[in-house]
Amino acid sequence: MKITNVTPHVTMPLGGQPWLFVEVETDEGITGVGECSDYRSTGLLYRGIEWIKREVVGEDARNIENIWQTIFHTFDDLNGRGFVSHLISGIDIALWDIKGKALGEPIYQLLGGPVRERVPLYTHVQDWNSDAGGPDVAAKAALATKEAGFQAIKTDPFPTQEGPDAGFSGPAEVERLTPENIRKSVEWMDAIRGAVGPDYELMVDAHARFDVASAIEAARALEHINLTWLEEPIHVENHNALRQVRENVRVPLCIGERHFTRWDYTEILNSRLVDYIMPDVAWCGGISELRRIAAMAEAQHIRISPHDALGPVAIAAGFQVCMTTPNLYRQECVHTWFDVFEKLIDPMFDVRDGSIYPSDRPGLGIELDMDAVERYRVDPDTREFLNIDAADETATDRWIQ
Ligand SMILES: [Mg+2]
Repeated sequence: MKITNVTPHVTMPLGGQPWLFVEVETDEGITGVGECSDYRSTGLLYRGIEWIKREVVGEDARNIENIWQTIFHTFDDLNGRGFVSHLISGIDIALWDIKGKALGEPIYQLLGGPVRERVPLYTHVQDWNSDAGGPDVAAKAALATKEAGFQAIKTDPFPTQEGPDAGFSGPAEVERLTPENIRKSVEWMDAIRGAVGPDYELMVDAHARFDVASAIEAARALEHINLTWLEEPIHVENHNALRQVRENVRVPLCIGERHFTRWDYTEILNSRLVDYIMPDVAWCGGISELRRIAAMAEAQHIRISPHDALGPVAIAAGFQVCMTTPNLYRQECVHTWFDVFEKLIDPMFDVRDGSIYPSDRPGLGIELDMDAVERYRVDPDTREFLNIDAADETATDRWIQ
C-alpha cells in the first residue's frame, strides 16, 4: 500500500484557532487523516508537511514505525523534537487511521485492545487573562460545568502583571508574580472551589510563565485549594529549576505539553520530577510516541493525562491511546468546542457524563467533512478566510463558556 499524496489543510471554524489537518492518500484508495495544529506556528508547520511529503510519498503506508524513524533521523539536526515531532505526529496519526481502516478495526484494538469502557475527560473554565468577568463569573462557569457532568476542571488563575512593573511580564520574559497577583489568583481559586465543593477535582495551569520564586510562592498560596496538580509552574528548559520547585512545594506537579518524544521525558520520569505528565498526541510524535511515553510513565507509577486544546482529529487520536493505557488520569478537552467539532467530523464522538465512549468504527472512528474544511479554510500565514467572509458565524473564540 503505497503513499501517493500528503496534503496539509488549515481550517478555522473556531475563531482564532487554525487547525492543521494532514491528509495522507494511498494507491489502494484508503485515506487517513492526522493533525499537528499549533496556533503560533501554523504557516511553518504547513510548509513542513509539504516538505515531509517528499520523504514519505512512495513509502508503504503500513510501515508506520519505519516512517516515524526515517523522519526523526533524517531531520535530527533540528533536534527531532518540537518542529520535527509535530510533523511526525501529523503523519503518524494519519498512518494509524489508514491501518485501522485497512484492517477494519479501531486503532485502540490494534494497540492491544481496551483496558477501560470509556475515557474520562477534564475540561476548562476561563483563565484569568481570557477577558473573563472575574472570580464570580469563573465560579458560575465551574458550577455549570460540574452540573453538565464533567468531573474535573482546569483554569489559569494568574493575572498578567500590569503597571510600572509590567516589564516582568510578557512572552519575551519569564514572568514574576507580585503579591497582588498571587492574592488575586487565590481569590479566583477560592471562588471556584467554593462553587464546586471540597471533593471536586481542580487543576491550575501556570502555562510555563513564571520564575522559580514565583512558582513556589504561588504553589504555597494555593495549597489549601487541594489541587490535583499545578501545571508547568516554570519554563520548561531547566530540570534543576523544576527540581527546586518540586522540593519546596506540597502540590502535585504536571508537565508535558512542551515536551516531545520519549527522550524529553526520560530524565523527568527517572528523576521523578512530577506526579503527572501530559504529552500532546499532535506534538509529541503521534499515536506511536504517546503510547511509548505512557508506558515509560507506567514504569514509574506516574499517570498520564494527554494534553488537548486542538481540533477534533487530535482528540480522536489521543482517545485511541487512552483506551489502551492503564495509567491514565483523564484526557483534556475544551467541552465548549464540541459543537464546533460537529461541523467538521462525522460522526461526532459519543460524549456522555464527562467521558468519551468508544465506537467500533475503524481507524480513528471519524471522518473529516472536507466540504466543511473547505468552507472554513484559511491562509496558513495570514489566517484570512479564503472562501467565506471573516465576519461569518465562525469568528468567535469560545475558549471559555
Ligand atoms: Mg497547559
